[in-house]
Amino acid sequence: MKLLMHTCCAPCSVYCIDALRKEKIEPTIYWYNPNIHPYKEYEARRDCLKLYAEKINVNAIFEDEYGLDQFCKNVVDNVNSRCVNYCYPIRLKKTFEYAKKNGYDAVTTTLLYSIYQNHNYIKKLMEDYSQQYGIDFLYRDFRHGFWVGHDKAIAEGLYMQKYCGCIYSEEASFLTHTNTKPDLPEDFEFLPAKRTIMVSKEKNDKKQYMDLLLESDPSEKMIEKYLEDGDLFVLRYKDVVACVAVVTKIDNDIVELKNIITKEDFRGKGYAKKMIKYLADNYKQRYKRMIVGTTENNIPFYVKQGFDRYEKTIKNYFIDNYDKEIWDGELHCMDLIYYSKDF
Ligand code: SF4
Repeated sequence: MKLLMHTCCAPCSVYCIDALRKEKIEPTIYWYNPNIHPYKEYEARRDCLKLYAEKINVNAIFEDEYGLDQFCKNVVDNVNSRCVNYCYPIRLKKTFEYAKKNGYDAVTTTLLYSIYQNHNYIKKLMEDYSQQYGIDFLYRDFRHGFWVGHDKAIAEGLYMQKYCGCIYSEEASFLTHTNTKPDLPEDFEFLPAKRTIMVSKEKNDKKQYMDLLLESDPSEKMIEKYLEDGDLFVLRYKDVVACVAVVTKIDNDIVELKNIITKEDFRGKGYAKKMIKYLADNYKQRYKRMIVGTTENNIPFYVKQGFDRYEKTIKNYFIDNYDKEIWDGELHCMDLIYYSKDF
């Protein structure tokens, strides 16, 4: 079967491709998503999918169209119905058109994977286009593999977007607080019981992680200072805290990774790396750069994570700011050395 799969992003494609390949179906992925804004976000998702497609050796077609103007013009009169009135139809119709022109037998979409999309509406729309274009619609309820795909996407280090795609959904991700349960298949476990790795931002009682943070920065006074205004992130492996990080804002362009620490039992397994990747994805939408201050011992680790530009050294920082001598293994810590990573 020659299958064309409309693909909205790399993370959503992971489970769909794996599931189809298990059925011995080799999809060609089709990128057409003029609903993703702003441009940097569009580029991040598109380029991540390009790299992933190359990595897993799947055929890919990219229709490059950044459609902010057209999108806004078409949805502005009825923003609340934008998904069904415009966003799903333009993408899926174009996929069927391409399939028709290029001799595909069937069409599907990764939109059937997301638990946050209007699954039944998409299914019906695909059935209608299937009739109209005379091409089969390959329906699968990919939502069953949502957490499996999600965890694999994190493990692969894919760019994990924070909102659906359009500027309205970006705004909603910050301003709308809803407990509405998404539209799910029966027997779907919404509670992420099967998820292995999860990162979340902790808003309450950040001090509960003090003991762990003290393993990386031995001054409670210093930690309290940056914890108050900083963002604290917790990476859990099967619901157990594995790694914690604190990030503060320096100015409108720069954030600083103030503290990152992995619990002893979890060290050497790449959790700090995953956390840094998550943080970079999280902050790259609003900031240009992340800096980190470190001792000599840890420079190679940070350089490997992309903090490859030397910024500055604060001489005698540890002597001037801490009550007692600080040792990192055999190293008597004196200077704080800054490196940065561009987003
Ligand atoms: S919320 Fe998502 S599906 Fe709906 S219009 Fe925006 S990008 Fe499209």
